[in-house]
Amino acid sequence: MSNKIIVVGSSNTDLVLKTERFPKPGETILGGDFYTFQGGKGANQAVTAARAGGDVTFVCRLGNDTFGNDAINHYGKENIDVTSIFQDPTAPTGVAVITVNGEGENSIIVASGANALLNVEDVEKAIKNTGETNWFITQLETPIEVIVYLAKYAKDNNKNLVLNPAPAAVLSDEVYDGLFLITPNETETELLTGIKVVDELTASQACEIFKAKGVQNSIITLGSKGAYLSTESYTGIIESKKVKAIDTTAAGDVFNGALIVALSEGKNWKEAVEFACKAAAISVTRMGAQTSAPTRNEIDQ
Ligand code: ADP
Repeated sequence: MSNKIIVVGSSNTDLVLKTERFPKPGETILGGDFYTFQGGKGANQAVTAARAGGDVTFVCRLGNDTFGNDAINHYGKENIDVTSIFQDPTAPTGVAVITVNGEGENSIIVASGANALLNVEDVEKAIKNTGETNWFITQLETPIEVIVYLAKYAKDNNKNLVLNPAPAAVLSDEVYDGLFLITPNETETELLTGIKVVDELTASQACEIFKAKGVQNSIITLGSKGAYLSTESYTGIIESKKVKAIDTTAAGDVFNGALIVALSEGKNWKEAVEFACKAAAISVTRMGAQTSAPTRNEIDQ
């Protein structure tokens, strides 16, 4: 069985500007430090998976612009197969404009740009380019018709599709029906099932709802408490390592990126979630999103 992984998702350039205070409407102020980072849930998961030792193809749509070119160079350096990254002739690369004030609060505006134009033909080309692949992971920053296509493709071709349903959005039955695994956090679980996860019982009730919709396995991430699994071989909570969290940005992305690598290597459910929890616990002790994703050596130690 091939252990190649196709990550289908978003890629943004994050433009971060530090400022003492946010400007009022109509006001211009001088800010402080400025940083550029690669972001987007798809990209965060692809980079994590590659660092964790996965054989990763990333499928996304960027602009034919400087941000797009820089992103491709970056993913190439992370040992990701970039042959299925498409550059749109007209739409710009997605950007997130992030301002952070003196109190550490942020305000964010995302312009999806080319991400919103990722389409079914792109994914079909990627599947053809990549060859035999059994593992697919996607999120909800991608047009819904692409998610529906992936779910149907996975079901018809007996492939393993993981959906990290973030940011949360209502899903149709045909999407649920094609999922090998769904990995919501507590907030997303409540939006999708109506159940507020407060303990093991409520987590299992939410997973029963996913199961009734046709999802084969469910994992609810529980922040510092770890994750609840309802899978073929293991049911119950796997605790996360206690760490001093500094920045939990992208903890879910790191969890998902590491998880799919472990599953693609044939680890069982319990081992795979332990691996993902380790990777995510390391990431929350560091600043940033992709910058916080650990290498395989760091996870194994
Ligand atoms: P999201 O980032 O999508 O909201 P969670 O907050 O549930 O997702 O975090 C995802 C995973 O990251 C958790 O299942 C856990 O393994 C790990 N994690 C998150 N926060 C912490 C923390 N404070 N300490 C240790 N591990 C954490």
